[in-house]
Amino acid sequence: MLSAIAVMGISGISGFFQQPETLPIVENIPKEKPQLQPEQQNHNLDIQKTSTLLVSADQLLAHIQKLNFQRFTTKERSLSRTYITNQLQKYGWKPQIEKFPTGVNIFTQKPGTDKTAGAILIAAHYDTVDSSPGADDNASGVSVVLEIARLFANYPTPKTLQLAFFDKEEAGLLGSQAFVKQAARLKNLRGVIVMDMVGYACYTAGCQQYPPGLPITPPSDKGDFLAVVGDMEHLPLLNAFNQTHPNFPVVLTLPIPFKGLLTPDTLRSDHAPFWYQGVGAVLVTDTANLRSPNYHQPSDLSKNIESSFFTGAAQIIVNATNNLLETSGVLTTQPAT
Ligand SMILES: [Zn+2]
Repeated sequence: MLSAIAVMGISGISGFFQQPETLPIVENIPKEKPQLQPEQQNHNLDIQKTSTLLVSADQLLAHIQKLNFQRFTTKERSLSRTYITNQLQKYGWKPQIEKFPTGVNIFTQKPGTDKTAGAILIAAHYDTVDSSPGADDNASGVSVVLEIARLFANYPTPKTLQLAFFDKEEAGLLGSQAFVKQAARLKNLRGVIVMDMVGYACYTAGCQQYPPGLPITPPSDKGDFLAVVGDMEHLPLLNAFNQTHPNFPVVLTLPIPFKGLLTPDTLRSDHAPFWYQGVGAVLVTDTANLRSPNYHQPSDLSKNIESSFFTGAAQIIVNATNNLLETSGVLTTQPAT
Protein backbone atom coordinates (compact mmCIF):
# COMPACT_ATOMS: atom_id res chain seq x y z
CA MET A 1 0.00 0.00 0.00
CA LEU A 2 1.31 3.36 -1.06
CA SER A 3 1.64 6.14 1.50
CA ALA A 4 2.33 9.22 -0.65
CA ILE A 5 -1.14 10.08 -1.97
CA ALA A 6 -2.69 10.46 1.48
CA VAL A 7 -2.67 14.23 1.65
CA MET A 8 -6.31 15.28 2.01
CA GLY A 9 -9.11 14.26 4.32
CA ILE A 10 -12.30 12.81 2.99
CA SER A 11 -15.25 15.16 2.97
CA GLY A 12 -18.53 15.80 1.29
CA ILE A 13 -19.12 12.28 0.03
CA SER A 14 -22.46 10.65 0.61
CA GLY A 15 -23.68 7.14 0.12
CA PHE A 16 -20.52 5.39 1.30
CA PHE A 17 -21.98 2.66 3.38
CA GLN A 18 -24.14 -0.13 2.04
CA GLN A 19 -25.78 -2.79 4.07
CA PRO A 20 -24.41 -6.23 3.19
CA GLU A 21 -26.77 -8.68 1.52
CA THR A 22 -26.61 -12.41 1.96
CA LEU A 23 -24.98 -14.38 -0.84
CA PRO A 24 -24.62 -18.14 -0.99
CA ILE A 25 -21.55 -19.28 0.90
CA VAL A 26 -19.71 -22.51 0.24
CA GLU A 27 -19.09 -24.45 3.42
CA ASN A 28 -18.73 -27.86 5.00
CA ILE A 29 -17.80 -29.57 1.79
CA PRO A 30 -14.69 -31.74 1.36
CA LYS A 31 -11.69 -29.91 -0.13
CA GLU A 32 -10.58 -32.54 -2.61
CA LYS A 33 -12.21 -32.57 -5.99
CA PRO A 34 -13.54 -36.01 -6.98
CA GLN A 35 -11.78 -37.54 -9.97
CA LEU A 36 -14.39 -37.91 -12.70
CA GLN A 37 -14.45 -39.45 -16.14
CA PRO A 38 -14.97 -36.94 -19.00
CA GLU A 39 -18.57 -38.03 -19.68
CA GLN A 40 -19.48 -37.47 -16.04
CA GLN A 41 -17.97 -34.02 -15.86
CA ASN A 42 -20.81 -31.92 -17.25
CA HIS A 43 -23.42 -33.89 -15.41
CA ASN A 44 -21.70 -33.41 -12.09
CA LEU A 45 -20.33 -29.95 -12.73
CA ASP A 46 -22.32 -28.13 -10.07
CA ILE A 47 -21.48 -30.59 -7.31
CA GLN A 48 -17.88 -30.72 -8.43
CA LYS A 49 -17.57 -26.94 -8.47
CA THR A 50 -18.83 -26.22 -4.99
CA SER A 51 -16.45 -28.82 -3.59
CA THR A 52 -13.34 -26.99 -4.75
CA LEU A 53 -13.72 -23.49 -3.46
CA LEU A 54 -12.71 -23.64 0.19
CA VAL A 55 -9.53 -21.77 1.04
CA SER A 56 -6.85 -23.56 3.05
CA ALA A 57 -5.49 -21.63 6.04
CA ASP A 58 -2.33 -23.75 5.87
CA GLN A 59 -1.70 -22.88 2.23
CA LEU A 60 -2.40 -19.20 2.79
CA LEU A 61 -0.03 -18.90 5.76
CA ALA A 62 2.67 -21.01 4.06
CA HIS A 63 2.88 -18.50 1.20
CA ILE A 64 3.31 -15.63 3.66
CA GLN A 65 6.05 -17.47 5.53
CA LYS A 66 7.90 -18.19 2.27
CA LEU A 67 7.65 -14.55 1.18
CA ASN A 68 8.41 -13.05 4.58
CA PHE A 69 11.54 -11.14 3.57
CA GLN A 70 12.19 -7.62 2.31
CA ARG A 71 11.31 -7.51 -1.42
CA PHE A 72 12.85 -4.19 -2.32
CA THR A 73 16.12 -4.69 -4.22
CA THR A 74 16.38 -6.17 -7.72
CA LYS A 75 17.69 -9.44 -6.26
CA GLU A 76 14.97 -9.66 -3.59
CA ARG A 77 12.19 -9.01 -6.09
CA SER A 78 13.66 -11.61 -8.45
CA LEU A 79 13.62 -14.19 -5.63
CA SER A 80 9.98 -13.30 -4.97
CA ARG A 81 9.10 -13.85 -8.63
CA THR A 82 10.81 -17.23 -8.59
CA TYR A 83 8.59 -18.32 -5.69
CA ILE A 84 5.41 -16.99 -7.34
CA THR A 85 6.10 -18.47 -10.79
CA ASN A 86 7.08 -21.85 -9.28
CA GLN A 87 3.80 -21.98 -7.38
CA LEU A 88 1.76 -21.03 -10.46
CA GLN A 89 3.49 -23.73 -12.52
CA LYS A 90 2.87 -26.26 -9.79
CA TYR A 91 -0.87 -25.52 -10.07
CA GLY A 92 -0.76 -25.85 -13.88
CA TRP A 93 -0.64 -22.18 -14.94
CA LYS A 94 1.80 -20.74 -17.49
CA PRO A 95 3.10 -17.48 -16.00
CA GLN A 96 4.50 -14.80 -18.28
CA ILE A 97 7.19 -12.37 -17.18
CA GLU A 98 6.39 -8.82 -18.34
CA LYS A 99 9.20 -6.29 -18.08
CA PHE A 100 8.73 -2.55 -17.94
CA PRO A 101 11.50 0.05 -17.61
CA THR A 102 11.77 -0.10 -13.81
CA GLY A 103 10.42 -3.52 -12.90
CA VAL A 104 8.81 -6.84 -13.80
CA ASN A 105 5.16 -7.94 -13.56
CA ILE A 106 3.93 -11.53 -13.70
CA PHE A 107 0.76 -12.32 -15.69
CA THR A 108 -1.17 -15.49 -16.45
CA GLN A 109 -4.68 -16.41 -17.55
CA LYS A 110 -7.10 -19.29 -18.03
CA PRO A 111 -9.64 -18.87 -20.85
CA GLY A 112 -13.32 -18.97 -19.96
CA THR A 113 -15.84 -21.34 -21.52
CA ASP A 114 -17.79 -18.42 -23.07
CA LYS A 115 -15.66 -16.44 -25.50
CA THR A 116 -17.99 -13.45 -25.33
CA ALA A 117 -18.06 -13.25 -21.51
CA GLY A 118 -14.86 -11.23 -21.02
CA ALA A 119 -12.31 -11.51 -18.22
CA ILE A 120 -11.90 -10.81 -14.51
CA LEU A 121 -8.39 -9.88 -13.28
CA ILE A 122 -7.20 -10.67 -9.74
CA ALA A 123 -4.04 -8.81 -8.73
CA ALA A 124 -1.67 -7.94 -5.90
CA HIS A 125 1.72 -6.23 -5.69
CA TYR A 126 4.67 -8.31 -4.51
CA ASP A 127 7.28 -5.62 -3.81
CA THR A 128 7.87 -4.02 -0.39
CA VAL A 129 9.29 -0.75 0.87
CA ASP A 130 12.88 -0.74 2.13
CA SER A 131 13.37 -2.26 5.61
CA SER A 132 10.04 -4.06 5.87
CA PRO A 133 9.46 -7.79 5.30
CA GLY A 134 5.92 -6.96 4.14
CA ALA A 135 3.96 -9.92 5.51
CA ASP A 136 0.72 -7.95 5.41
CA ASP A 137 1.97 -5.46 2.79
CA ASN A 138 1.60 -7.37 0.58
CA ALA A 139 2.54 -11.04 0.95
CA SER A 140 -1.05 -11.37 2.24
CA GLY A 141 -2.49 -10.21 -1.10
CA VAL A 142 -0.03 -12.33 -3.11
CA SER A 143 -0.97 -15.34 -1.00
CA VAL A 144 -4.68 -14.92 -1.80
CA VAL A 145 -3.97 -14.63 -5.54
CA LEU A 146 -1.93 -17.86 -5.31
CA GLU A 147 -4.75 -19.56 -3.43
CA ILE A 148 -7.17 -18.46 -6.18
CA ALA A 149 -4.69 -19.92 -8.72
CA ARG A 150 -4.82 -23.25 -6.86
CA LEU A 151 -8.59 -23.37 -6.40
CA PHE A 152 -9.58 -22.29 -9.92
CA ALA A 153 -6.84 -24.13 -11.88
CA ASN A 154 -9.12 -26.99 -12.95
CA TYR A 155 -12.40 -25.18 -12.50
CA PRO A 156 -14.24 -24.10 -15.65
CA THR A 157 -15.95 -20.71 -15.57
CA PRO A 158 -17.74 -18.71 -18.30
CA LYS A 159 -15.42 -15.71 -17.88
CA THR A 160 -11.67 -15.83 -18.35
CA LEU A 161 -9.68 -15.66 -15.11
CA GLN A 162 -6.55 -13.51 -15.23
CA LEU A 163 -3.95 -13.18 -12.48
CA ALA A 164 -1.32 -10.44 -12.12
CA PHE A 165 1.46 -9.82 -9.63
CA PHE A 166 2.57 -6.20 -9.87
CA ASP A 167 6.05 -4.89 -9.18
CA LYS A 168 6.98 -1.42 -7.87
CA GLU A 169 3.64 -0.53 -6.31
CA GLU A 170 5.48 1.07 -3.42
CA ALA A 171 7.48 3.23 -5.85
CA GLY A 172 4.26 4.84 -7.15
CA LEU A 173 2.00 2.17 -8.71
CA LEU A 174 4.56 1.65 -11.49
CA GLY A 175 3.73 -2.00 -12.28
CA SER A 176 -0.01 -1.45 -12.58
CA GLN A 177 0.55 1.71 -14.62
CA ALA A 178 2.71 -0.30 -17.04
CA PHE A 179 -0.01 -2.98 -17.18
CA VAL A 180 -2.83 -0.59 -18.15
CA LYS A 181 -0.71 0.87 -20.97
CA GLN A 182 -1.31 -2.40 -22.89
CA ALA A 183 -4.59 -1.51 -24.57
CA ALA A 184 -5.21 -5.08 -25.76
CA ARG A 185 -5.20 -6.27 -22.15
CA LEU A 186 -8.00 -3.92 -21.19
CA LYS A 187 -10.27 -4.71 -24.14
CA ASN A 188 -12.12 -7.69 -22.66
CA LEU A 189 -11.55 -6.83 -19.03
CA ARG A 190 -14.88 -6.58 -17.16
CA GLY A 191 -13.55 -6.07 -13.65
CA VAL A 192 -10.43 -6.06 -11.48
CA ILE A 193 -9.95 -7.13 -7.86
CA VAL A 194 -6.79 -5.71 -6.26
CA MET A 195 -5.73 -6.93 -2.83
CA ASP A 196 -3.38 -4.80 -0.77
CA MET A 197 -2.99 -5.77 2.91
CA VAL A 198 -5.72 -8.25 3.82
CA GLY A 199 -4.20 -9.99 6.87
CA TYR A 200 -4.32 -7.67 9.88
CA ALA A 201 -7.08 -7.14 12.44
CA CYS A 202 -7.19 -5.47 15.86
CA TYR A 203 -9.74 -6.22 18.56
CA THR A 204 -9.39 -3.48 21.16
CA ALA A 205 -11.82 -0.56 21.21
CA GLY A 206 -10.46 2.45 19.31
CA CYS A 207 -7.69 0.56 17.50
CA GLN A 208 -9.25 1.41 14.11
CA GLN A 209 -8.83 4.92 12.74
CA TYR A 210 -10.74 6.63 9.94
CA PRO A 211 -9.70 9.47 7.67
CA PRO A 212 -11.15 12.73 9.03
CA GLY A 213 -14.63 13.53 7.78
CA LEU A 214 -15.34 10.07 6.39
CA PRO A 215 -19.17 10.04 6.23
CA ILE A 216 -19.74 6.42 7.16
CA THR A 217 -21.05 4.68 10.20
CA PRO A 218 -18.15 2.49 11.30
CA PRO A 219 -19.25 -1.15 11.48
CA SER A 220 -17.53 -1.46 14.87
CA ASP A 221 -15.08 0.40 17.12
CA LYS A 222 -12.55 -2.34 16.40
CA GLY A 223 -10.43 -3.11 13.36
CA ASP A 224 -12.15 -6.36 12.53
CA PHE A 225 -13.86 -5.60 9.20
CA LEU A 226 -12.68 -5.98 5.60
CA ALA A 227 -12.88 -2.79 3.50
CA VAL A 228 -13.69 -2.95 -0.22
CA VAL A 229 -13.30 0.28 -2.17
CA GLY A 230 -14.90 0.48 -5.62
CA ASP A 231 -15.70 3.08 -8.27
CA MET A 232 -19.28 4.34 -8.43
CA GLU A 233 -19.44 3.47 -12.14
CA HIS A 234 -19.22 -0.30 -11.44
CA LEU A 235 -21.46 -1.00 -8.44
CA PRO A 236 -22.27 -4.63 -9.39
CA LEU A 237 -18.54 -5.38 -9.11
CA LEU A 238 -18.46 -3.90 -5.61
CA ASN A 239 -21.71 -5.59 -4.63
CA ALA A 240 -20.15 -9.03 -5.25
CA PHE A 241 -18.46 -8.44 -1.88
CA ASN A 242 -21.67 -7.83 0.05
CA GLN A 243 -21.55 -11.15 1.89
CA THR A 244 -22.44 -12.02 5.45
CA HIS A 245 -21.30 -15.09 7.29
CA PRO A 246 -20.95 -15.58 11.05
CA ASN A 247 -17.35 -16.81 10.74
CA PHE A 248 -16.04 -14.23 8.29
CA PRO A 249 -15.14 -10.57 8.79
CA VAL A 250 -17.88 -8.01 8.22
CA VAL A 251 -17.42 -6.34 4.82
CA LEU A 252 -17.54 -2.54 4.53
CA THR A 253 -18.12 -1.62 0.88
CA LEU A 254 -17.24 1.94 -0.12
CA PRO A 255 -18.51 3.22 -3.49
CA ILE A 256 -16.27 6.14 -4.49
CA PRO A 257 -17.47 8.90 -6.86
CA PHE A 258 -15.34 11.00 -9.22
CA LYS A 259 -12.60 8.34 -9.40
CA GLY A 260 -11.39 9.34 -5.95
CA LEU A 261 -10.75 12.97 -6.84
CA LEU A 262 -12.09 14.12 -3.46
CA THR A 263 -10.81 11.12 -1.53
CA PRO A 264 -7.11 10.60 -2.27
CA ASP A 265 -6.84 8.06 0.55
CA THR A 266 -8.86 5.74 -1.70
CA LEU A 267 -6.27 5.92 -4.52
CA ARG A 268 -3.31 4.41 -2.71
CA SER A 269 -2.99 1.13 -4.57
CA ASP A 270 -2.97 -0.63 -7.95
CA HIS A 271 -6.72 -0.31 -8.61
CA ALA A 272 -6.35 3.44 -9.28
CA PRO A 273 -4.69 3.16 -12.74
CA PHE A 274 -7.62 0.98 -13.84
CA TRP A 275 -10.14 3.59 -12.66
CA TYR A 276 -8.38 6.20 -14.77
CA GLN A 277 -8.78 3.92 -17.83
CA GLY A 278 -12.50 3.49 -17.15
CA VAL A 279 -12.07 -0.15 -16.10
CA GLY A 280 -14.08 -1.19 -13.04
CA ALA A 281 -11.81 -2.12 -10.12
CA VAL A 282 -12.04 -2.68 -6.39
CA LEU A 283 -9.39 -2.48 -3.68
CA VAL A 284 -9.74 -5.05 -0.88
CA THR A 285 -7.84 -4.01 2.25
CA ASP A 286 -7.55 -4.15 6.03
CA THR A 287 -7.13 -0.32 5.80
CA ALA A 288 -3.32 -0.37 6.21
CA ASN A 289 -1.94 2.38 8.50
CA LEU A 290 -5.44 3.27 9.68
CA ARG A 291 -5.32 -0.03 11.59
CA SER A 292 -1.87 -1.61 11.62
CA PRO A 293 1.07 -0.33 13.72
CA ASN A 294 3.31 -2.53 11.54
CA TYR A 295 2.58 -0.62 8.32
CA HIS A 296 5.89 -0.20 6.42
CA GLN A 297 7.82 -1.26 9.54
CA PRO A 298 10.32 -4.06 10.25
CA SER A 299 7.55 -5.53 12.43
CA ASP A 300 5.34 -6.40 9.42
CA LEU A 301 6.05 -10.08 10.10
CA SER A 302 4.09 -13.27 9.50
CA LYS A 303 3.60 -13.67 13.28
CA ASN A 304 1.54 -10.45 13.22
CA ILE A 305 -0.91 -11.75 10.62
CA GLU A 306 -4.26 -12.47 12.28
CA SER A 307 -4.97 -15.86 10.75
CA SER A 308 -8.74 -16.13 11.31
CA PHE A 309 -9.34 -12.65 9.86
CA PHE A 310 -6.98 -13.41 6.97
CA THR A 311 -8.56 -16.78 6.16
CA GLY A 312 -12.08 -15.30 6.31
CA ALA A 313 -11.02 -12.40 4.09
CA ALA A 314 -9.53 -14.85 1.59
CA GLN A 315 -12.78 -16.86 1.49
CA ILE A 316 -14.82 -13.70 0.91
CA ILE A 317 -12.52 -12.80 -2.00
CA VAL A 318 -12.77 -16.34 -3.44
CA ASN A 319 -16.58 -16.24 -3.22
CA ALA A 320 -16.70 -12.81 -4.91
CA THR A 321 -14.30 -14.00 -7.62
CA ASN A 322 -16.50 -17.01 -8.29
CA ASN A 323 -19.65 -14.88 -8.43
CA LEU A 324 -18.01 -12.51 -10.89
CA LEU A 325 -16.64 -15.30 -13.11
CA GLU A 326 -20.07 -16.95 -13.24
CA THR A 327 -22.33 -13.94 -13.68
CA SER A 328 -23.52 -13.01 -17.14
CA GLY A 329 -24.84 -9.60 -16.06
CA VAL A 330 -23.00 -6.38 -16.84
CA LEU A 331 -20.78 -4.97 -14.09
CA THR A 332 -21.36 -1.33 -14.97
CA THR A 333 -23.78 0.71 -12.88
CA GLN A 334 -27.17 0.81 -14.60
CA PRO A 335 -29.28 3.96 -14.56
CA ALA A 336 -32.31 3.78 -12.26
CA THR A 337 -35.48 2.88 -14.15
ZN1 LIG B 1 2.76 -0.42 1.18
